[in-house]
Amino acid sequence: MKRRVFSGARPTGRQHLGNYLGAIQNYVNLQDEYDCVYCIVDIHALTTLENTADLQQNIHGMVLDWLAAGINPERSIIFVQSHVPEVTELHTLLSMVTPLGWLLRVPTFKEKARLQPQNVNYGLVGYPVLMTADIVLYKAEVVPVGEDQLPHLELAREIARRFNNLFGDTFPEPQAKLTPFPLVLGLDGKEKMSKQLGNDIEIALSDKETVARVMTAVTDPARRYRSDPGHPEICNIYRLHQYFSPSRQDSIGRQCRSADIGCVDCKTLLARGINASLGPFRERRAVLAAKPQYVTDVLADGASRARLIAQETLREVRQRVGLI
Ligand code: SF4
Repeated sequence: MKRRVFSGARPTGRQHLGNYLGAIQNYVNLQDEYDCVYCIVDIHALTTLENTADLQQNIHGMVLDWLAAGINPERSIIFVQSHVPEVTELHTLLSMVTPLGWLLRVPTFKEKARLQPQNVNYGLVGYPVLMTADIVLYKAEVVPVGEDQLPHLELAREIARRFNNLFGDTFPEPQAKLTPFPLVLGLDGKEKMSKQLGNDIEIALSDKETVARVMTAVTDPARRYRSDPGHPEICNIYRLHQYFSPSRQDSIGRQCRSADIGCVDCKTLLARGINASLGPFRERRAVLAAKPQYVTDVLADGASRARLIAQETLREVRQRVGLI
């Protein structure tokens, strides 16, 4: 039997190149080796979202991208966190075994409290407990994480371990599958690509829109004129060539240094590479988008499969803690 992987992602809407090169391609590949459970964590999103008007649209756009990119709903369970309400009960039960001190020490809580002082809500403190519930509800053994998320997973392991010590062996302690997520910078060339920062390139754009978006990218500021030699090592367009035109990256680097290529031509080549690479994805997406019920049906099926596992786990947990 394959080991089970769990991964949760916030409903950030239509996905961008950073999501695609990091999480999505990894999700697709994991399906060969693991029994995968992929969750859109809409309840988590409420801890930082003040405006939820776009939530449903964001979930829809995100899932459409996932499916078109190759996450197969017949092999993997794809569902929305709140469609399996058992997670909230498990969250409450796990909160009874989680010392408050563990949660108040979490660096991301302190960071979020600093970023949104007007909305330091209880959910922010309890976030790691809900995350633990997400994972252990499905008895997942493996969680793909980047290095920066290791402390969160360690806390989830501690909570699971504490529950097991108090009430008997119930949950596997989830193991980290350390995954090198490439750091994809945005069009500003400074910050990580992010929808919130508005520096992203959505993968579902048309060819023309992609060209227009790439043309807005910041390049080497030393190249004020076409004849100025460039420094590709500091240019984000050059880094993106690594993913979308890898066979040309070396020659582009040389041509940039000798000013044999201008930034407009270089960006045009990149946009062409992105469009060629994403062409099949965009065709599949258009086919799926033409079926209005498709995403809804996939998510309903995912939720009912997830619920079967969740209900069995919760029955066991209720027994362990003496509620039945
Ligand atoms: Fe960047 Fe290409 Fe311009 Fe060089 S030619 S600075 S690599 S965009």
